[in-house]
Amino acid sequence: MRRLASLVTAPVLAALACGGAGTAFAEPPPPHAYAVVAKVPAPARAQARVVALDARLAGDESRTRLVIDLTRRLDIRAFVLGDPYRVIVDLPEVTFDLPANAGREARGLISAYRYGLFAPGKARIVIEAKAPVAIDKAYVLAEAYDQPARLVIDLVRTEREQFLREAALQKEIVGSVPTTPAAREVPAAPDGRPLIVIDPGHGGIDSGAISPNGTEEKEVVLAVAQKLKAKLERSGRYRVVLTRRDDTFIPLADRVKVARTNKAALFISIHADSISKKEGDIRGATVYTVSDRASDAEAARLAEKENRADLIAGIDLSTQTDDVADILFELAHRETKNFSAHFARTLVGQIKAAAHMSPNPLRSAGFVVLKAADVPSVLLELGYLSSKEDVKMLASEAWRDKVADGMLAAIETFFATKVAAGTPTPR
Ligand SMILES: [Zn+2]
Repeated sequence: MRRLASLVTAPVLAALACGGAGTAFAEPPPPHAYAVVAKVPAPARAQARVVALDARLAGDESRTRLVIDLTRRLDIRAFVLGDPYRVIVDLPEVTFDLPANAGREARGLISAYRYGLFAPGKARIVIEAKAPVAIDKAYVLAEAYDQPARLVIDLVRTEREQFLREAALQKEIVGSVPTTPAAREVPAAPDGRPLIVIDPGHGGIDSGAISPNGTEEKEVVLAVAQKLKAKLERSGRYRVVLTRRDDTFIPLADRVKVARTNKAALFISIHADSISKKEGDIRGATVYTVSDRASDAEAARLAEKENRADLIAGIDLSTQTDDVADILFELAHRETKNFSAHFARTLVGQIKAAAHMSPNPLRSAGFVVLKAADVPSVLLELGYLSSKEDVKMLASEAWRDKVADGMLAAIETFFATKVAAGTPTPR
């Protein structure tokens, strides 16, 4: 297969694609027929041809993931094709330099896959599924640090009817591609104004929590973060950096890095929670600080969920650089902890007027994103997307504005009391 892949011609691969399947693998589907698109900026295309370096399968019968390492990010297009159950991934011309046995092993929902050139300038991966599947995720992660770019296809089990409907409809889903932000260092302020990092959670392929009516955590938290940034800047007293300014996926370690690189005086991560029906009907905002041991089971559950963001987005944590390990290790400085706790209390006090607070609004747990050892950090859960009342608030412009006002007031109080107490700002 290894040799074939680079030499193969279109008709050969077309035959290859059907190989033993019984159904003709005829023409590529019409342009509208497509499921997932990942876009890459134009300049990237001008470079040398992308090489597929390695491939692996993971998961089980309920969810199976195909990961292909690439020398660079590229555009892909993925869609299901019946009958038999197949998933097609189209990409620009790629040199497949995969191990000889790639595609031959069966795992979970995937019985095998084939790959190679399909047409001039176009490569194709044909995944054979054992059962009806849906494409849950299909994207390409940009190369980062010492890791290659990665094409990730997540398949989940679905019903035959659903599969066939999907194959017929070829519903279009546009997915954004995660990017690794450069250090995003902002110049130090000669005037000594404190720098505040605001961290809207999730983004891009990671939507975070979603309400039954489709309100997404990533959208709500970005909107609130932008409002807060505008208010802080209008005050003229602070410099502000957002960890993401748009619908982009940012790994947790990179978010922490933004705070540390810029020697932030305060880091505020903004999220919205969600719980299942059987867990009850909780609502309201909660402020979290970091701790080795969670304050309660609910906080532990939440931290575990929020810490999974990288996994959900397809980052292979086992190969992640030691950033996270470093951060975990440095869970330290008492002074930072005191500042964090002080700000958390202030924040609860100030947003009470705007936000409905949860019954126990001050909690702590092991959030990765709060583990910058030298930056006072809190995580604000604005409310629950599983609560009808909260969703109404979270989606409201007026509410978002009010809660941002509350946050602004808390920040003003925090820095004012620090100065009043004669405590130098940490930076
Ligand atoms: Zn979240």
